[in-house]
Amino acid sequence: GQCSASCPEQSLQVKSEVELVKVAIRDPEKVVVFSTSPSVRVGLGDAFTDKPGTYVEGKMVAALKALGADYVFDVTFSADLTIIEEGCELLQRILTNSGPLPQFTSCCPAWVKFVETYYPDKLPHISSAKSPIGMQGATIKTYFAAKQGLDPRRIVTVNVTPCTAKKAEIRRPELNDAGELLGCPEMRDNDYVITTKELAQWMREEQVDFESLTDQDFDSLLGKGSGAGVIFGNTGGVMEAALRMAYRSLTGREADGKLLRFEDVRGMKGIKEASVEIGDATIRVAVIYGTANAAKFLEGDISRYHFVEVMTCPGGCISGAGQPQMNCIPVVDPIRVSRIGSMYAEDEKMTLRNSMDNPEIQRVYQEFYQKPLGELSEKLLHTVYHKR
Ligand code: SF4
Repeated sequence: GQCSASCPEQSLQVKSEVELVKVAIRDPEKVVVFSTSPSVRVGLGDAFTDKPGTYVEGKMVAALKALGADYVFDVTFSADLTIIEEGCELLQRILTNSGPLPQFTSCCPAWVKFVETYYPDKLPHISSAKSPIGMQGATIKTYFAAKQGLDPRRIVTVNVTPCTAKKAEIRRPELNDAGELLGCPEMRDNDYVITTKELAQWMREEQVDFESLTDQDFDSLLGKGSGAGVIFGNTGGVMEAALRMAYRSLTGREADGKLLRFEDVRGMKGIKEASVEIGDATIRVAVIYGTANAAKFLEGDISRYHFVEVMTCPGGCISGAGQPQMNCIPVVDPIRVSRIGSMYAEDEKMTLRNSMDNPEIQRVYQEFYQKPLGELSEKLLHTVYHKR
């Protein structure tokens, strides 16, 4: 059932950013490109159905098209791109001592800000890879714009995310790399972030009938993700995706069953640890959610780890502050577990389970970025952090 009009969840909606997106949609000069984060497809349905965590990818795309999107792309594409860049950075740190270990993930802006504020001495440990939406925006305004013959200043990039912290992330002054490259530094890589909740509210206002929507596919070029990209929204998902990639890179072989269902890094425990043998090396990893757990971890001896994933929200982005509630019931662990399970089930159904096998990723490197950690990749796909 839908939330009733008296639901405080709804009255607290921040409208302004959605209103600006609507203005862009009405402007014939603008090309409005939506990108949806992995967790939106297991959260959006909670606003319209009674089954928590339902996988509603096709209806989500159809809803955005009904609301006026010119293109709908998938952030799972850039989650794969993140894995390639961040995974290569990790291997470089391990193999050539190019930076301190452990390497920490960088895709959660609330975690990055936490380190910038409270543990600035640990900033060199954070991967320089931008978050998936950071990579997506920069790639849309360069590669996609050039392929379509579009002036990138006409493109308005809108990310639909489970995350309220992403609204601030896209406004970080340094995230205008596409504009800098193209000589229009006032252009932002990403223009707007709207949350899953805001999308649900917008759909209600426009009377988009969720149940009767017919599934649609993402647009191509930046519309395809692997299973590894899908599970990014779960705690442990980035780790599992990175290890699949690292295993292939170091051994030349397919990841075995363990890395395709890596139970040690899955589930709702706040700090998880695991080690995996890759060739002759033993890679030690940890997966953490919540800043209290992260602080506890940072106060201990971190030197024995190679790679550490940190997300701020319990269970990962699936329970971000921008995700809807079902019937105004707070998002509790059984709901989180349903969303998490829905993503893992989708990963298992996919034939594409390793970011390196994603044909759209192979193509963007062939046609544009050339190679991971190369000159153009460093310019558009990596960033810097600041002590606050
Ligand atoms: Fe945003 Fe939470 Fe995901 Fe961090 S864990 S990126 S704060 S939704």
